[in-house]
Amino acid sequence: MAMANNKTHCFTCNKEKITFRCEGCSKRFCFMDLAEHKQILNDELNHIINNYDQFKQTINERKQNPSLIKQINQWETNSIEIIQQKARDCREIAIKSSQTFIYDIEKKFNNLSEQIKEIHKENEFNEIELNYLKNQLIEVTQELNNLSKISIQQDSQLFINEISIISSIKKSKFTFSLSKLHQ
Ligand SMILES: [Zn+2]
Ligand SMILES: [Zn+2]
Repeated sequence: MAMANNKTHCFTCNKEKITFRCEGCSKRFCFMDLAEHKQILNDELNHIINNYDQFKQTINERKQNPSLIKQINQWETNSIEIIQQKARDCREIAIKSSQTFIYDIEKKFNNLSEQIKEIHKENEFNEIELNYLKNQLIEVTQELNNLSKISIQQDSQLFINEISIISSIKKSKFTFSLSKLHQ
């Protein structure tokens, strides 16, 4: 700021006074209004500093990328829910089909048990009855082994939508030096 030789109009108060030129806006101010002008610039700098601080805070928050993490958590929760539902359905079907299958065998077995009790009570039997009872037990035992024919089939296709992280960010160029502005 160089002192002017002649009195000129101050940009702020419009009075003819000794004025000083502001290098930034090229306007001329009287001593009082120059101080005022400087104060306004000072306030603006503080405002910018505030915004910079806020941005710094935002940067630190974004490092964790909370929105992305939230989406991953949502996917995790949904996927678990889908798997649990599938497991519940399969358990229900497994129990139902096993129970139905065993119920038929149990009916046959109970019938045979009744026959044994009868024979035992009457005390009237020979090899023919004994052979029959032995063979029937072998038969229901073999039938019960068929339970292993109810089994789990695994599908190799993906049941849950798979996710992965992709980035299409291109690095931008910044002006890092204030000194370049004055060239
Ligand atoms: Zn003035
Ligand atoms: Zn200025």
